[in-house]
Order: sequence, then C-alpha cells, then structure tokens
Amino acid sequence: MKNLMDSQGAKLPPHVLIFPVPIQGHVKSMLNLAEMLCLSGLDITFMVSDFSHSRLLKHTTVVSRFKQYPGFCFQSITDGLPDDHPRTGEQVLDILPSTKNITAPLFKQMMIEKNLFASETRRPITCIIADGVLTFAADLAEEKGIPLIYFRTISACSFWAYFCIPELIEAGEISFEGIGMDQIVKSVPGMEGFLRFRDLPSFCRVKDINDPKLQMAESVTRQTTRAQAAIFNTFEDLERPILSHIRKHITNLFTIGPNHSHLKLRLTETKADNSVLSGSFWAEDRNCLDWLNAQPPKSVIYVSFGSITVVTREQILEFWHGLVNGGQRFLWVMRPDTILGEDWKNQTPLELEEGTKARDYMVEWAPQEEVLNHEAVGGFLTHSGWNSTLESIVAGVPMICWPYFGDQTIHSRFVSDVWKIGLDMKDTCDRKIIERAVRELMEERKDEFLGRSENMAKLAREAVSEGGSSYRNLDALIDYIKSMII
Ligand code: UDP
Repeated sequence: MKNLMDSQGAKLPPHVLIFPVPIQGHVKSMLNLAEMLCLSGLDITFMVSDFSHSRLLKHTTVVSRFKQYPGFCFQSITDGLPDDHPRTGEQVLDILPSTKNITAPLFKQMMIEKNLFASETRRPITCIIADGVLTFAADLAEEKGIPLIYFRTISACSFWAYFCIPELIEAGEISFEGIGMDQIVKSVPGMEGFLRFRDLPSFCRVKDINDPKLQMAESVTRQTTRAQAAIFNTFEDLERPILSHIRKHITNLFTIGPNHSHLKLRLTETKADNSVLSGSFWAEDRNCLDWLNAQPPKSVIYVSFGSITVVTREQILEFWHGLVNGGQRFLWVMRPDTILGEDWKNQTPLELEEGTKARDYMVEWAPQEEVLNHEAVGGFLTHSGWNSTLESIVAGVPMICWPYFGDQTIHSRFVSDVWKIGLDMKDTCDRKIIERAVRELMEERKDEFLGRSENMAKLAREAVSEGGSSYRNLDALIDYIKSMII
C-alpha cells in the first residue's frame, strides 16, 4: 500500500472497514472496538445493516457520538431480510444465508463503486475487520487482496468446542443416539475432565451429523484460519488454557476484551467523556436506575435473557414463581417479543403484572452495563450470552445461568464449574429449581460467590489497564494494522 498524504503532506492513517453481523450483541461489541480504534487515530468505515442503523438512530446517541471522530463513517446496507422478519429465536440464524446471498454481492459492488471507500482525506480501505460469522468476507478479501482480520464475538471456549467438531464426530461424541446427555466428552482438548455432551454448543445436539446447523457451525469456525489474524473479546486470565490450544491454529490472535470495559478505560485515559457507549436496538428504560437507587446493597437479582431468546408463557410463569418464592427483589427485562407468538402488553400473565407492581420492577430493555454495576444488584439470572457474561464478570456479579442456545450452553458450564462464579440450570425450567438457585446464590453461598466474582472482576480490570494483557494486545493490534501500509 502507498503512503498516501493529505493536503498538508501528513501521512494518512490506515483505513479499517468494520463489518458486524447485524445482531445486537455483535454490533455493540464491534462498536466498542470501532471507538477504541478511532481513539488511536485510525479511519473507520463501519458497515451496518439498514435495520440496525434505523434502530441505532432511533434509540441511541451512537450516531452523534461518533461525529467527534472525523475519520469515522457509517455505511448501511441491507441484511437481505424483510424488516418484519423475526430476528429472535432460531430465526435469527436466517441472517447468515441472507447476508451471504444478498448482502455480499451488493457489498462487493459498493466497494467497487465507492473506490474502496476512499476520499480526498481517506485511503482506500487497508484492512477489513469482519465478524467471524461473515464467511463471504474471506472470499472478498482474498479476491481484492485486502488483509482480513476476523473478530470473534464468542468466547474462546465456545470457539474451541466448535473448532473440534470434526474430532467430536470422529470419536462418535456427537449424536443423540449414541451418547447420554451427561456423558463426559473427551475430544475437546483442555476440557476433557468436565465437559458433558449437554454442555457442548447446542448446535451439537443433532440426530444426524449431516445436520445443516452443525455443518454451518463447523465450517464457519474453521474458516477463521483463512484470515491473517483474529480478535477475541476475552482476556488471557479468563481463558488462557483454551487460548493456547487455539493459538496452535491461529498464530496472530489478539485478546483485547472485555471490550466494553476496555473502551471505558481508554476513554478515561484520553480524558474524553467515558460514558457507556450504548448500541441498543431498543429504548433503554433508565427509570429502573432510580428504582435500584432505593434498594439495599446486593439485594436485587437482575433478570435478562438478551436480545434473541424467546420463551413460552409456561416458562415465564415458572421463572416468576421461582423468583418470587426465592424471596429476593428482582429487576426483569421483558422484551416486547420475548413470549413466543404473543404481544406481551396484552398477554403478560396477570400474576407478573400484579406481582411486579408490589416489590419488583419490569422493563422492556435496560441499560444493562449500568444496571450490573449498580450496588443494589447482587445476582444475574442470565441466558449466558457472551456479552452478558463478560459484563457480569467485569461488574463482579455472580450468575444463575439459563442458557438458551448456541454457545450459551458451554458458557454456563464454565461459569459454574471452571470459574465457579455462578450456578448452571441448563435444560430445566422449574419453579422449585429456580427458587433453590436464587436462595443459594443470594443467601446461602452469597459470600463464596461474591468473593470469587470480585476476584475475577479484578483480573478483568487488570487485563484492560495499562500493562495488562488486553491493553498490550490492543496496542499490538493497532501496530499490526499500521504495519499493513508501511
Ligand atoms: N442488553 C442491554 N439491555 C438489556 C438486555 C441486554 O443493553 O435489557 C445488552 C447486553 O448488555 C449485551 C447485549 O444486549 O451487551 C446482549 O448480548 P449477549 O451476547 O449477552 O446476548 P444475545 O442478545 O446475543 O443473545
């Protein structure tokens, strides 16, 4: 690449194109990365789907916040799905074929027409950082000769389990027919002692090894090695043994997480406004923070199942009874599209409406990072999405895990059996089990869980502080991106 100059003769910075898959957790996490790179003076083009762009414009100040960085711009493109296509439950996976079949050719055309997004003040893009599930990015980057870095929004442990699918198949450890749910699997190096079939990413729960979801999980993961490097939103002290296995296949691997807390620290260093970068697709109900202000320390259990999980009315009632019988206050996020096939405004079980009026609080969407860091919050009933898990770790909040699908089933095992900062209730949804878990986490074993969670939070903060592993890795990543134009 040439050392292009601006009108004053200064060398133009690298120009990175960042492309997340248009799902809440992915967009938020990659926006955090984008702002960190902006702080280092890199030019960024952020590809966002029309759907997510309109959500961000409607519910956040993200667009105006990025105006402070002259080198930043959004470009929007269709995700190939109609606006009213559900982006929840298993249907969210439809985004993968639609981006591949519809978005990819349009993106290629856009790159040509816009001369690789060059302008008088910006180079043509010098590097692509694509979401690890966007397989078309590898083909395109190779075709155009542009360096590619894959950004994995999942944990190293789930990535590694996906990576080992061929070995699991060969060992006969994937198949409902041949193996019991509680049988220990031995073909994921580093997890031999504690990983049960039940804990593998849910796409491994297949009757037939030719199942399309299993095949997709395997091929998407394996092709990460086609990129020049990979970025993981995790930190060394959390997943070191697993990372060392992955590094045998991906040498340039940068762990820079937890991204949200890393960004906060970098903003503080530059004396910029270090408020949370909210990339929410729904309006955050900030009144819940006032409600939390009125609650005693560590007395509230925060309940949220993220942006994709859908549940039945029966499951909601089990949770509600379990939480009420557990005797703790709770703050519950109930997205408008949480209950399968129902509009919750008309259908929320009456018990919930009456009950929550009395001593609990319900919102459609919360400012989650702030909620988890509120001193009144003492526990998190979560679906174990990776962003939620990291946010809880940074805040030192112990978890009750109720994984819904995908990588979440393995996170909950790590939370309960490796990091020991919470409880795993996967594959059950029973009010008695929920009540028991709430009492264990918030009363009987409270000090034990809080102690370990606070230790882990300290390690996370150290990782993103000057001299910490994620801090050094982000600097190394930026140098690496700069080296592409020298
Ligand atoms: N989130 C939020 N408010 C809510 C619920 C979730 O801001 O009321 C955010 C949360 O902080 C996290 C993201 O949505 O960053 C969810 O990502 P995650 O990976 O945990 O789960 P997913 O939604 O992908 O299943």
